[in-house]
Amino acid sequence: MAQTTTKKSSLSASVKARPPIVVVMGHVDHGKTTLLDYIRKANIAAREAGGITQAVGAYEIVHEGRRITFIDTPGHEAFTSMRSRGAQAADLAILVVAADEGVKPQTKEAIRIIEEAKTPFIVAFNKTDKTNGSIEKARNDLMAAGVLLEGFGGQVSYHGVSAKTGDGVNDLLDLVLLAADVEDLKYDAAAPAMGYVLEARRDPRRGIEATVIVKNGTLRRGDPIHTTQAAGKVKILENFLGKPVLELEPSAPAVIIGFETLPAVGEEFAVGDSTPVAGGPAAASSSFRQAAKAAASPAGSQEGGSLLNLILKSSDSGSLEALAVVLKGVDPSQTGANAKRVNIIEQAVGDITDGDVKHAAATGATIIGFKNKIEKGARILAEAQTVTIITSNIVYDLSKAVEEYLTGARGPAALGELEVLALFNKEKLEKQLVGGRVTSGLVRAKAPFEIVRRAGTAQTGAQASVGTGRILELREKKTDITQAEKGKEVGLLVSAQTAIQVGDILIIRK
Ligand code: GDP
Repeated sequence: MAQTTTKKSSLSASVKARPPIVVVMGHVDHGKTTLLDYIRKANIAAREAGGITQAVGAYEIVHEGRRITFIDTPGHEAFTSMRSRGAQAADLAILVVAADEGVKPQTKEAIRIIEEAKTPFIVAFNKTDKTNGSIEKARNDLMAAGVLLEGFGGQVSYHGVSAKTGDGVNDLLDLVLLAADVEDLKYDAAAPAMGYVLEARRDPRRGIEATVIVKNGTLRRGDPIHTTQAAGKVKILENFLGKPVLELEPSAPAVIIGFETLPAVGEEFAVGDSTPVAGGPAAASSSFRQAAKAAASPAGSQEGGSLLNLILKSSDSGSLEALAVVLKGVDPSQTGANAKRVNIIEQAVGDITDGDVKHAAATGATIIGFKNKIEKGARILAEAQTVTIITSNIVYDLSKAVEEYLTGARGPAALGELEVLALFNKEKLEKQLVGGRVTSGLVRAKAPFEIVRRAGTAQTGAQASVGTGRILELREKKTDITQAEKGKEVGLLVSAQTAIQVGDILIIRK
């Protein structure tokens, strides 16, 4: 049986209490989405749920006669971007840890974020159907990661669940309500409404559509509304089911049509005319780009260590915010004597352009692209100007890449990485003919490299450096080239101290 510390909630609903806003965090594949889906389906009448016409980043359920709001956007991104604004959109977090896997890197990252934000949290040990209810390993793992569980010297309550079968989920919701009671969440129905922007996008038909969470006051149709970046009027107000409503109270998710400019994800909004929102970013600039630049520069004056200048580009303002927060959170204190610090010199929405490459070349920056494309002109210029561009659709990959730069795992000036896929000539160490795929950054002719080999299994991920070498020639489809970027399959003639093997990673240095 799943172990439990549950005490049944016998507290009745209080009109003064504000329902808790809950965010779900944890390692990828540990079941966050499945849990959120289960909770939604089990608690929202099918007839109502069928009314959802578009994906809204939050939903509301009723459990034991009390409302609970769940933030349903990818937990990590939404949460981190909100934290960047000093906002506390979520009242509680559920840390999901798969009972069969225990603590993983993103579990630790989630713990760090939750603790920094001082958000109370409970733990859901998921997939107990796979472990016959045993959560012992995961529980020990979590305590080793510093989480003090209830009954084991701490106060963090936990429950074993199966998001797949629903086992234990009701008890988990009881724990959410108990934790909310401890927080004693209140709101003032008479106050002007305020809350946080969860999502913002431009709908071709409806105009700017923002999903927000109301945290205080009562939000009404017709209210003037603003954030530090955007202003407008609530022309259409919808609940999370997409139904038009006249007003919404905390902690309801709401869809607002009526912003004239795009608000940023995580921003605080308030009803009233456009005086800056208290607690918002100090730089109340109308231009996100300018605000970002202003916010970025002080980091450059930090003492000690050199700076890793970054230019961030992303598909939309929400993921840009999230990316910036995650990258700023890469911990320089663990990077040793030659620690570099992340210095974001610019962040903007859009594809990577030749203008970005020029800026990067002038400032010695690396360009980080998230969920976007590299324009052709930018690609050509980057090759000519030896500017490194790292792109991915997964924020975690990007933070890992940056971390590797900082810790020197990629050396002080790694250009990129290549995975060895084939060997053609292994007779002479100083003339090895190798085929491979560029997996990140750039590979350049004449560049030195380090050979990294997997020491353990793919699961353990242990890697060891087994030697160094230099690229003599670089070819693509039998034509000599000077460099190749991520995704390209290339042939290399290399000289190295070690015989290269299929599966090796070549870390290319500048
Ligand atoms: P997320 O990345 O944390 O959102 O994880 P998902 O919800 O996408 O789940 C990852 C995988 O684990 C999917 O294949 C799910 O079907 C599976 N999964 C999630 N919860 C459970 C569970 O309680 N039991 C079992 N057996 N599988 C689960």
